[in-house]
Amino acid sequence: MLCVLGGTFDPVHFGHLRPALEVQQALDIECVHLLPCRVPPHRAVPVASPEQRLALLRAALDDEPALAIDARELQREGPSYMVETLEALRRERGDQPLCLALGMDAFAGLESWHRWQDIPVLCHLVIMQRPGSAWPDRGAIAGWVEQARVDAPHILRSRPAGCIVAVPVTQLAVSSTQIRALLAAGRSPRYLLPDAVLERIRQENWYAG
Ligand code: ATP
Repeated sequence: MLCVLGGTFDPVHFGHLRPALEVQQALDIECVHLLPCRVPPHRAVPVASPEQRLALLRAALDDEPALAIDARELQREGPSYMVETLEALRRERGDQPLCLALGMDAFAGLESWHRWQDIPVLCHLVIMQRPGSAWPDRGAIAGWVEQARVDAPHILRSRPAGCIVAVPVTQLAVSSTQIRALLAAGRSPRYLLPDAVLERIRQENWYAG
């Protein structure tokens, strides 16, 4: 079973890393693949370049076998549509179960994603609760949750796609926005992200105001 966690990672922080590790443990898989996007279709252009964000991800993971990087979207021109990435993964993996991990905030906005209805056909969704966000309670997504939600991660192994499972993760109210704002204001974001990532940011003077 494969699980990817897509994101902008501008920059990567403990709110990505700790939940990703907890998902890896909950699903009992070898590793979770962090999948940085090149051009996020639904939001402003990232502050750091694809190369800078990738360098920071590498610094963050260093020696952690339970987390890996899948840089394919960085190599693809144009908007990074998750549905296209999932189609490529599906072609590579055949009928193997495929999971997309998402914070609850990202899940709640899924209806704005390109061809979102194709996503449940391609993968399972693994939802990570995030401070300040809740299950969508109306619209097409809420109806889909009702019929696709399963209680336990092991159920995902029984089919290639189509289920939704919530994985409890440590609640860390950290965001890249907060870290960028601190750096731009000349204040320290230490203890919100790995020291190795902060060291690289400081060395290169990235995100400075
Ligand atoms: P920004 O503040 O720039 O919007 P972000 O901190 O939300 O960024 P992203 O790279 O957009 O980070 O997030 C990638 C994925 O990780 C999304 O699915 C998001 O919901 C999830 N995520 C980010 N931060 C957390 C957190 N603190 N707890 C749980 N999930 C998170």
